[in-house]
Amino acid sequence: MLEIEFEEPLSEICDCCGNTTVKLTRFVYENDNAFAIYYIRFTKDHDDKEVLGLVSLGDWGTDEISENRTSFLFKLWFDNENWNVSILDGEESPWNSEILGKILQRQEALKHPWIKDVFHITDHIVEEDQELIKYFNSQG
Ligand SMILES: [Zn+2]
Repeated sequence: MLEIEFEEPLSEICDCCGNTTVKLTRFVYENDNAFAIYYIRFTKDHDDKEVLGLVSLGDWGTDEISENRTSFLFKLWFDNENWNVSILDGEESPWNSEILGKILQRQEALKHPWIKDVFHITDHIVEEDQELIKYFNSQG
């Protein structure tokens, strides 16, 4: 069972348009054990209504950065009554802290055994992450 811990959202001004970019950090627990973290960012009033996200998996229960630590970059949007998730090349990631481990390129990511965990987490995101849900329900 997955549970998400929600931090307060942070915001900054978007370089390209001066609108507000919202940045979210969340901790994911599986049966009370630290399982993953994810980040989300989106900018209000951009033409494409979509969010960029990164899920990092691999031994989040220890203080050390595990060799297994692996991250997946994705974009998420709502279209024709459906949520869509697309895995992106890791080199496009705006997040690149050492603690995230290796950020996979799209082709590696899609073949990775943990990709199912990534989609399990994105299923929870669209159901439970109120900041993101609010953004997709807003006008503009
Ligand atoms: Zn912008």
